Amino acid sequence: MTTFEQLGLSKKVLSAVERMGYKQPTPVQEKAIPLVLKGRDIIAAAQTGTGKTAAFSLPSMDKLGHAKGGSGPLMLVVTPTRELAQQIGEVASEIAVSTHHRIVTVVGGLSYKPQIDRLSRGCDILIATPGRLIDLMDQKAVRLADVQVLVLDEADRMLDMGFLPSVKKIVAATPKSRQTLLFSATIDKSIQDITGKMLRDPATVEIARKGDVAETVDHYVIRVPQSVKPALLKALLKEKGFFRVIVFARTRSRADSSCRRLRREGYKVAAIHSDRSQNQRKRALDQFANGELNIITATDVLARGIDVDEVDYVINYDVPEQPEDYIHRIGRTGRAGAKGLAITFVTPETEPQLRDIEKLIKKTIPEMELGSFDLAAAEAEAAANAINGQARRDPEVNKVKRELANRAQKAKQKSQETPAPRRRKKKGVANGTQKPSMGSGRKQKQNQKQRSAKQQAKGDFRPGRARRAEVQRSRNRRK
Ligand code: AMP
Repeated sequence: MTTFEQLGLSKKVLSAVERMGYKQPTPVQEKAIPLVLKGRDIIAAAQTGTGKTAAFSLPSMDKLGHAKGGSGPLMLVVTPTRELAQQIGEVASEIAVSTHHRIVTVVGGLSYKPQIDRLSRGCDILIATPGRLIDLMDQKAVRLADVQVLVLDEADRMLDMGFLPSVKKIVAATPKSRQTLLFSATIDKSIQDITGKMLRDPATVEIARKGDVAETVDHYVIRVPQSVKPALLKALLKEKGFFRVIVFARTRSRADSSCRRLRREGYKVAAIHSDRSQNQRKRALDQFANGELNIITATDVLARGIDVDEVDYVINYDVPEQPEDYIHRIGRTGRAGAKGLAITFVTPETEPQLRDIEKLIKKTIPEMELGSFDLAAAEAEAAANAINGQARRDPEVNKVKRELANRAQKAKQKSQETPAPRRRKKKGVANGTQKPSMGSGRKQKQNQKQRSAKQQAKGDFRPGRARRAEVQRSRNRRK
């Protein structure tokens, strides 16, 4: 059994390893760490969850010096998504408690100013997403001439996401003498062809070959018509539990609508996709990690590299379009040796995609029976909902609804404008000057008495007859 000490790491980095709670190196760490310490370029095909972040961070940071004043970075890590950048930043910060490196992370979706300020103060390690890094290079806010170690993380994904021109530009801005470490969950010939020129006599570290799936994950398919998926999802959560579940959907709007539906059912759920701000995504992941949220509905933005411990299981609400994404999605569960579960909903339309996945992983994914799920009832409910929905969308039905609503509105207005029905005038009651509700003569007298009592209390009481006599007396005096 190999230990971290045997891999050649220094005491200060070994103390970081101990603090991080790693007892034994993972296979990719065992192979990569000695090579990186020797200064070799490497091309590593290791699937997500294998400990590859520490595999490049521990040895690189062990050898890395410290940049002077406002210079640096000496090490540059380029990764496709903001979440991965943040996650690498967290691992590097943990190691830096021992090595005292200054780390800056720059990602899209956040304001430029604080990132530019931090860069101007200099740094030892820069972790960046390609688009933002190119922007900052164009603004001359960063220079890469001091880079000694370049890490290209999730290289295949960066190329898939159309980052090849940016990656080439970034690589070209670093010195040729640099050490290059290329990590990718899946590596095929096209990647090797494209990135081959960026590496010098690379050592290949192959832990998982293309198409390998995490051995610790049990995976199944459930065949359903599209319309029944919401009901199936509910039944599945009820039967299998809902603590730390990720539901993958094909599009942002499908992730959002699943999220809304589950929220209406009372689940603690949030959606993560590229339309959510960086802060929203980070908050959701933090809440998911600390148990405030139980379910995340996501697009493939989340499929790669996001490290949330103990994801109970993954549901592929939609079959992924790229077969490789299946491996990444199910890699979210069963991490670092824990047992995981992945369940994929397959409609007749997505059978061909399932066949591509099975071809890639070289195995037939078994079918799962869900005892509690009544397909016939769910189909009947879906049909009723569809009819309702159709009725809602039908222009004729909507026209009639609008007319009825207008009519009701007009009737309401009319009733508000019409004065209250006239009451029969009572003798001595001047319409509009005295409340018509005075009622009988006896009541009038009572009211008069009450008014007089009030006036008396205020001190301006003048009984009618006495007042008239007074007026007469003053007239007589004037005469
Ligand atoms: P990564 O492949 O870098 O995303 O790492 C996946 C997970 O494995 C992270 O939660 C790490 O903290 C964890 N991990 C990395 N190396 C080790 C190790 N040697 N022992 C136990 N866990 C590890």
